[in-house]
Amino acid sequence: MQKGLHNWPKQLEPCDDVLLKHLEKLRGVYGMQVYDIDPYVGVFQLRENLWAMFVPCTHVMADNWAYLLEGPEKAVFIDNGFGIGDLRGLGEMLTGKPVITAVTHEHGDHYGGSVQWDEIYCHEYCAEALNSMSDEEMESGLHNFMEGKEGTRKYWQDEDVMPFHRFRAIGLKDHETISLGGDHELEVLHVGGHAQGLCCFLDKKNRYLFTGDSIYEGRECGVGTVLTGARPGTKHPEVLDIRYFTKKVEEITARVGEYDWYFCGHGYTDSKAERALDLPKVLHRIMDNSLGADAETFNLHGHILARQHYGDAWVSYNPEKIK
Ligand SMILES: [Zn+2]
Ligand SMILES: [Zn+2]
Repeated sequence: MQKGLHNWPKQLEPCDDVLLKHLEKLRGVYGMQVYDIDPYVGVFQLRENLWAMFVPCTHVMADNWAYLLEGPEKAVFIDNGFGIGDLRGLGEMLTGKPVITAVTHEHGDHYGGSVQWDEIYCHEYCAEALNSMSDEEMESGLHNFMEGKEGTRKYWQDEDVMPFHRFRAIGLKDHETISLGGDHELEVLHVGGHAQGLCCFLDKKNRYLFTGDSIYEGRECGVGTVLTGARPGTKHPEVLDIRYFTKKVEEITARVGEYDWYFCGHGYTDSKAERALDLPKVLHRIMDNSLGADAETFNLHGHILARQHYGDAWVSYNPEKIK
């Protein structure tokens, strides 16, 4: 893992060599900046009004992306990492505008930086999950991997962990919009599947789709997602059903004429929209084979998952829980 990293900032080491290859490719195209105000993210300016922040994961699971999108009056962080470093300050510095935040779903690697805001935007089911947590649950969830547990990757100084601050999640319904000023809006597209509140954000003006964990670039294969099924206490298990997810992915891929690029939560980013078109086919293949009788199985951090492919697409899932 260490070799080849000689000119890579120590605090931004990616979690594996495949991701490093993705990042080196992106760095070759866009360059990568690291700013003093928040040295814990690698900044790739993808477009005039769009930056992708590479956020190393605090544990072994998966490094991810937070996106800064600038509108006429304000900017928005779509997902906001782990709450390490002054991400909000970085966004304000880069855009010179007020910065709000919206999160794709209620997993800690995507909303941890929300402690820098009083209010965040997300799908209504995500808001319900976040708002129903006690302060203790939320704080221990966010700091779970920051306290010397097995698998922690300590790359930060303790004083740079943003203090816990309770924020309120404002829930939006499917197809509601967030305004960045003028006619620049983000449309919420609920997908579920991987988390009850998981949504994409569609920027029709710029023809960008932000997909979170609903469609992302796999390490070595193409685009896909991980479906692990409902956790205990999930209020809307029906939206974690593979049929619901398939229907919503089909709606999104049917709208491919409205976006040229999508930007995902993990792995490679800045992908051509057409790359995700095989995803509904792999989902149907899983269902047609009575949930993947011919799928390969593998061990992901102690969980046995199955994976099915079709063309460029893949879906990993827990065969026990995805019914
Ligand atoms: Zn997730
Ligand atoms: Zn994720």
